[in-house]
Amino acid sequence: MPDSRFLPLVIYDKRFLIWWGISLYLFQLGSRRQLDFDLDARGTQVLNNLNRLAQTQQETRPVHDTLDHFLGHTGAAPYAELRTRMLRRLIRMRSLDAARLQGRFVVALDATGHLAFGRPHCPHCLVYRHATHTTYLHQVLEAKILGPAGLTLSMASEFIENSDSNAALSGEARKQDCELKALSRLLPQLRRDFPQLSVCLSGDSLYACARTLQLAKDCHCNYVLTFKPGHMPAVWKDFQSLLKLCPENKLTCSTPEGVHQVYCWVHGLSYRDDQGRTWHFNAIECKETVDGETTVFAWITDLKVDTRTVEEIATKGGRHRWHIENQGFNRQKNSGLNLEHAFSTDPERLKAYYYLLQIAHIILQILEVSSLLRNVAAEYGQTPIQLFGSLKNLARRLLEALRYFALSDEVFDHSHAARIQVRFDTS
Ligand SMILES: [Zn+2]
Repeated sequence: MPDSRFLPLVIYDKRFLIWWGISLYLFQLGSRRQLDFDLDARGTQVLNNLNRLAQTQQETRPVHDTLDHFLGHTGAAPYAELRTRMLRRLIRMRSLDAARLQGRFVVALDATGHLAFGRPHCPHCLVYRHATHTTYLHQVLEAKILGPAGLTLSMASEFIENSDSNAALSGEARKQDCELKALSRLLPQLRRDFPQLSVCLSGDSLYACARTLQLAKDCHCNYVLTFKPGHMPAVWKDFQSLLKLCPENKLTCSTPEGVHQVYCWVHGLSYRDDQGRTWHFNAIECKETVDGETTVFAWITDLKVDTRTVEEIATKGGRHRWHIENQGFNRQKNSGLNLEHAFSTDPERLKAYYYLLQIAHIILQILEVSSLLRNVAAEYGQTPIQLFGSLKNLARRLLEALRYFALSDEVFDHSHAARIQVRFDTS
């Protein structure tokens, strides 16, 4: 090891380091260590391209520890703020408008595992005791805004973790943090970040409870929540008997894919919660038949339900929520984005990496579904997936472009980019 006192001091611009961090996920490198190899500056155009992207003049590249050190200084908050600004821009440009439900943006709620350890990792871990072993977990509650073409863009994240004040307690005395408690922190924050936005929350049956209804009211959000017999059983019973009493609330339709749907609905169901508050909402049932097999779905909502609106509420407010699982969590876990990998040993830095991943995934999703890529593929008479073979290959082609091509100055010119119209496939 050379004596560090004699190494030249290199100061990295923060814009460069942030792009360096986003690159980790944009090019789906999988681990921080890969930065040193895949983004090696020697014999490549990496520095040339990244300097122009970040508007910097770095003469050497950082090592992966530089990034980790930098994130230790900044903490996670600036990256959450950067993501908020990206989404505000997309909303302002009206690029997500095609997915709006009665004028509202649909925001899907769901939690996911982030990290799992076999032994205590930090004072904030959620602790789960099994018969033979104990696991120490970090989870995140996500609010993702649903856009056209299956876009599922992270707009708010709340880490599900035990607080310091709780840490001294052990075993049963310690009430752990959970998804619904995290929602009580997430929604007010989402409102502070997007004060004017018309929002319709979409969530699974776990969220069909008084806490969500109160939060939605306090934060001026509408909702479409999955309704199952086990949650609010008395209300479910009322729903079933009232369905029989209003046969006029019915719509039958078929999708182009040959799915037969029968919608029925009830207005003004009431629910008295354990704190004596009474809630009123509408409920929708959808019997869906594919190849002779019928599945029943149901939702509760405070949106106006009638023959004209029922299908749109169920589709955009109810079904599109499933994108959060597929396009959202599965993609982030089962790709080079590597959501469940511990990119740092430090709990606070892990959050910064989490936000950088979300930012990169927003950029990647926009790239994947935008007309830019479709137009390139169309020149070869193909779709983007036909042209690249897979989304994984697309990430590799992106990395190759960064490494081996001195991209033209036009590529980095904001005023030139402003003239390019990017459209999302809404078919
Ligand atoms: Zn931990």
